[in-house]
Amino acid sequence: MSGLYSTVYTGALRIKAALRGDRQFSIYRSLLREQYLPPHRLEQVRIERFKKLALRAIDNSKYYHQRLSEQRELIEKMQSLEQLSLLPLLTRDDLQQHYKEILCPVDNTVYADSSGGSTGSPVNFYHDRDYQMFARGLHLLFMSWIGVSYGDRTGIFWGADRDFKEASFREKLDARIDRIMALNSFNVDEISMDSFLRQLEQFNPTYIYGYASSLALAAERINQLKLTGIRPKAVRSSAEMLYESQRQVIEQAFGTKVYNFYGSREINNLAAECAAHEGMHVMASGRIIEVVDDNGQPVPDGEQGNLAVTDLTNLSFPFIRYLTGDMGTLKSESCSCGISYPLLAGLAGRSSDIISFNGLHIHGEYFTHLFYAQPLVKQFQVIQEEADLLVIKIVLRSGELDTQPLLNQITEKVGPSVRIEIEFVDSIPPLKSGKFRFTINNYNNRRKV
Ligand SMILES: [Zn+2]
Repeated sequence: MSGLYSTVYTGALRIKAALRGDRQFSIYRSLLREQYLPPHRLEQVRIERFKKLALRAIDNSKYYHQRLSEQRELIEKMQSLEQLSLLPLLTRDDLQQHYKEILCPVDNTVYADSSGGSTGSPVNFYHDRDYQMFARGLHLLFMSWIGVSYGDRTGIFWGADRDFKEASFREKLDARIDRIMALNSFNVDEISMDSFLRQLEQFNPTYIYGYASSLALAAERINQLKLTGIRPKAVRSSAEMLYESQRQVIEQAFGTKVYNFYGSREINNLAAECAAHEGMHVMASGRIIEVVDDNGQPVPDGEQGNLAVTDLTNLSFPFIRYLTGDMGTLKSESCSCGISYPLLAGLAGRSSDIISFNGLHIHGEYFTHLFYAQPLVKQFQVIQEEADLLVIKIVLRSGELDTQPLLNQITEKVGPSVRIEIEFVDSIPPLKSGKFRFTINNYNNRRKV
């Protein structure tokens, strides 16, 4: 049950939306039904949406006219989403070089945006109003899964994002009306973190969200201080890879479940966990996620590969089979919650950040697990610099760390031919985007350029 404030607040938002012709609430209502369609009917709905997107792209976008015209008949007669694998992929390079030719505005509501990405140069793209309204509708659907509403008291632990700046008076007033308390967790020292946590305890938020690493940082402090007064209904982790060790720390600190959420600046609301926590539901009414190998061939469910995403809602700037740079695994089983949206078994992080020696890929989870067991370690980052060189940066809380047991353990994992250098540093800054990377593969990133 939502509180009175959020009922009134949501009511006001509905009126405001209706006056502006914003259809997010009506889209949300139709999604509430659509999520329970039998899988074959849901697939039909998605195929129809895909046909509309792709055929319009062929007719109106210079880029897709060249890339997809030959497959027009296949698209017109498409029977199954598996046939998508016969169409070309859209790479980050394609986007960088051709974004102007991809653009095919439906009307005059297109907004330019860009994404820095974790490596390399930024990409430019556009969103339109339909995309935005559908994204809000999908987000409302996700909020219904975790039992929170607009207007619920919300605490935010953000990274040093470009969206996060010193708030103006107007913004501070809005935050009071919206009932939001936010902390830019990466730039805080322990004193301001502690004071924020005490204020948050008073504020008593129903909902908390933030970057995985920021939430984990705050959660560790909550556990150290033994604060037990911050008890939200749900915590959403987004923007970064959520490791199991972080999930445990966060759930312990807030006494509730963490819901992992996957989105990107190019296409938001891609997948998210429901209350059953059996994987992340692909937001299938608006998004298609395929998993492909390095040659672009589909991999079977249960196997890890590159995520290729199609956005069914942005007709003005079609993302068709876009390689996001993230890796993950699809699940063939359906979720016990009854929602028919397919499940992503898990995300493995940015392909550019996966450490690999002699063909052996080492999941970031290995390192987070290793270092979370070290109480002296405050922060760490593992960087592959060469084919046979691993550099580990460590920020200590206090005292000295005996590195020999760590070195032995890691050597056992990566093999004796890999050199391991440990550097003790005062701090490890996040990326400009505010995201924090626990693992970076500089060697692979250099070779890709
Ligand atoms: Zn579910």
